[in-house]
Amino acid sequence: MAERNCRRCSTSLGIDDDLCQACGARNPLRHPWYIWPLAAVIFLLAFYFLVDVEALRDYVTRPRVPPPGAGD
Ligand SMILES: [Zn+2]
Repeated sequence: MAERNCRRCSTSLGIDDDLCQACGARNPLRHPWYIWPLAAVIFLLAFYFLVDVEALRDYVTRPRVPPPGAGD
């Protein structure tokens, strides 16, 4: 990765530094454009693997009738 420099005072920054040690200016990391779609895909995959999709679909499509004996 290329060396990052403070955009105000040009002091070299650590790879994880958002704040310049010398002048205190914020130097937020620039994320590539694909970071959000990628995060969304990862989130959806995690959701798919963590959630029992079959049970969820069954729950959604099941007719809502109260079980016999309920509400007494
Ligand atoms: Zn600086």
